[in-house]
Amino acid sequence: MRIKIAVGACLLAITLAWQAALPPELGIFPLVDAQGAATGWWQLRQQALYLSGLWSIGLMALAMVLALRLPWLERPLGGMDQVYRLHKWAGISAALTAILHWGADESSDWIKGLWGRAGRPARDAVLPWLTDARGLAKDLGEMAFYLLLAMVAITLLTRLLAYKPWRFLHRAMPLVFLALTLHTVALMPLTFWTLPLGLLMGTLLALGSLAAVWSLAGWIGRARSHTGRIHAVQVLGDGGAAAPIEVICALPASWPSHRAGQFAFVRFDAWEGAHPFTIASAPGSLGTNAQGEQLLRLVIKPLGDYTRTLGRRLQAGQRVDIEGPYGRFDGRGRRRRQQVWVAGGVGITPFLALLEARQPGATPAPSKLQPVQMHYCTRDAATDPLLPRLRTLCAQAQPPVTLTVHGDAQGQRLRPQDLEATPGPLDIWFCGPQGLGDALHAHASGTRPWRLHRESFAMR
Ligand SMILES: Cc1cc2nc3c(=O)[nH]c(=O)nc-3n(C[C@H](O)[C@H](O)[C@H](O)COP(=O)(O)OP(=O)(O)OC[C@H]3O[C@@H](n4cnc5c(N)ncnc54)[C@H](O)[C@@H]3O)c2cc1C
Repeated sequence: MRIKIAVGACLLAITLAWQAALPPELGIFPLVDAQGAATGWWQLRQQALYLSGLWSIGLMALAMVLALRLPWLERPLGGMDQVYRLHKWAGISAALTAILHWGADESSDWIKGLWGRAGRPARDAVLPWLTDARGLAKDLGEMAFYLLLAMVAITLLTRLLAYKPWRFLHRAMPLVFLALTLHTVALMPLTFWTLPLGLLMGTLLALGSLAAVWSLAGWIGRARSHTGRIHAVQVLGDGGAAAPIEVICALPASWPSHRAGQFAFVRFDAWEGAHPFTIASAPGSLGTNAQGEQLLRLVIKPLGDYTRTLGRRLQAGQRVDIEGPYGRFDGRGRRRRQQVWVAGGVGITPFLALLEARQPGATPAPSKLQPVQMHYCTRDAATDPLLPRLRTLCAQAQPPVTLTVHGDAQGQRLRPQDLEATPGPLDIWFCGPQGLGDALHAHASGTRPWRLHRESFAMR
């Protein structure tokens, strides 16, 4: 909902500002006059071209700013995973409105073919120092448009390109944005640079360009990055190919600590990008090492090409760069609602931290917490290496956490309707596979008084 509101608000603000910049009489009607001149169609095309272009570059600027991972955006948007979702939807909407812009541009051939050139308005005056850059700006815009479409297509059709090469290509987006900024500045009519549209577009283009340069320079998240060491690594369970690893990291005094349920971007190798992992321990629960450095736990499942290699490559003493913490997945809801936690697979990690924060002697002492009904979905409850610890944490949690385990191998798959056995309005906190999350979302969005809080584990 917040994502639709944010994209809608951006489009509305640009539309209102554009409307304020229009002359009182646009001359759209009649579309074709008595002499057969398509003056109205030409005017319509012109304004559609401008408005769709403003929408597209405005949304791209929003996407660029969101890519900066600004922590103060987490509160209004509901967490950094939601900031990323908005970034993605702003990018998709920018591509869709760019298609409209391209369609409006191409429509000149159809109008010409049907009614001829008569009635076509003269070119609008642009910023005087960019009058000669018109041709270059148009070519740049067209190239950047094709690149933008290709990028959005490979983002959505995940099978077309694996995550790593996609991520590498995605780094070129700031260049596409800068090219489109030049296109906009060179071709936007001089009259649009007056208030309020000029101020709005000037601000969006300036912020977006700053964000693009920041991103190209590799400065995103640098101020929130802390260099630590791996304190200990162990493979959990049977040590098989699918076994998760537990990595304990020692962090310097500069680490601002975290809240249970948050995640961080973690880089073990200089050549590999940072990966997001939940901090699977409550603040202070692991104490400090001999040097007085804070310890925190990551539990990493070998879900992909890189994480599959970590078990044999990570060693105590190795450097680790941790950027964060981020996220607002705190497992707390309204007092009058029953709290329900649903974890699937490695989605258990934020709940491990939330459970540690409820243990006797936890600092700070838990306050204003409510009892919880917890559901844990696992492939095989008989061999799951995290389950014994989870049972202990639930048994000792204060206020209590009642655990129900759903093992696939035991034929105990959780269905959303199973949650109806819990009476009253529910606050459901979910972290796990996309399919289960979507099923819960579909069920919760009916007439039930349920509210679903979902930590998204996908950032593409
Ligand atoms: C907020 C959050 C918290 C997470 N917490 C945990 C956790 O506690 N334990 C755990 O095992 N996993 C966690 N994950 C998932 C973990 O980040 C991915 O499994 C891991 O990055 C996969 O990397 P790979 O190269 O092995 O996989 P690949 O095969 O390269 O990619 C598999 C998928 O992982 C995701 N991914 C890969 N690289 C990155 C990256 N650099 N940044 C963002 N996403 C990426 C993409 O969605 C990709 O499609 C979390 C993800 C998010 C977004």
